[in-house]
Amino acid sequence: MAEKGKGKLAMYWAASCGGCEIAVLNIGDKILDVDAAFDIVFWPCAADFKYEDVRNYPDRYIDLCLFNGAIRTSENEEMAHLLRQKSKVLVAFGSCAYEGCIPALSNLTTAEATLRTAYLESPSTDNPDGVLPQPVTQVPEGELHIPTFYNTVKALDQVVPVDYYIPGCPPEPHQIWAVLEAVIQGAELPPPGSVIGAGTVAVCHECPLEKHEKQIERFYRPYEITPEPELCLLEQGIVCLGPATRSGCGALCPRVGMGCRGCYGPLDGVEDQGARILSAIASVVGVGTPEEDEAELERKIEAVMETLADPAGTFYRFSMARSLLQRARVGGNGAGKGEAR
Ligand code: SF4
Repeated sequence: MAEKGKGKLAMYWAASCGGCEIAVLNIGDKILDVDAAFDIVFWPCAADFKYEDVRNYPDRYIDLCLFNGAIRTSENEEMAHLLRQKSKVLVAFGSCAYEGCIPALSNLTTAEATLRTAYLESPSTDNPDGVLPQPVTQVPEGELHIPTFYNTVKALDQVVPVDYYIPGCPPEPHQIWAVLEAVIQGAELPPPGSVIGAGTVAVCHECPLEKHEKQIERFYRPYEITPEPELCLLEQGIVCLGPATRSGCGALCPRVGMGCRGCYGPLDGVEDQGARILSAIASVVGVGTPEEDEAELERKIEAVMETLADPAGTFYRFSMARSLLQRARVGGNGAGKGEAR
């Protein structure tokens, strides 16, 4: 039962790994302040709420809804519409809700191929009858329904209007707390549509590693090289998305020798994070001078780029659903931009 005077908070987990849920608990004892300020009116991961409870709430009953996870199934989509209807402020919380994240990498293939891999071909699968999940199954007791698995994974704002975006895979606890504290204290939030709980400059700006003019002659995967601890990773040939990624995490990954993966998403005004980093990286490939034979230069550039493993998965690891591409056309099943299922 909601207490009078307290705000009402909801949290929902759609297509995601659950890390965003844990990140909220990582705010530590500040969770007590959250409890003091809000009644939790829906948080299936933490307490026994039913969808029916939400359906019975009046419209705009929930003051703040943190929605994590992408839209992968009909259930995710139904809950996005329901929570939009019942919430005053709907936040795309974490990279999956904000821009599709890892689930949306399956937009490079089809739903059918994804199910085939998971249920038929993976080495750990024991499925001798080759049974695949079906939306409707007849059993002696009647019909069983499970959600439809869509062909295209979408970000939350591709199915319902969203008020704010909190980026990160997962969002950093200090950033989550900054947003919750602002809401609890009634501080003025930025205009709807803004990214909150993050910085406005690139990760490189908060990265303490030493930077020089870059001249990359080949790329290394993390296991192929022990990086110099003080030197920019990109300069050492380790792919780092810091130049094209929004700050706010404190450059956590580069500080421990792992290139930025790009989980805080693009900077303001950048439509396609993958294209931005690709152009940044292309500008620092150093294999010769413009005076050299053009064909030879081209060959050398290609040789450098061949050392870069999985470009689509590297540059669009978090942003595929919101990229200009959004999904690949694959055989007769791949759908064009904007197709949902
Ligand atoms: Fe930027 Fe990455 Fe180099 Fe740090 S390591 S300065 S984040 S490119």
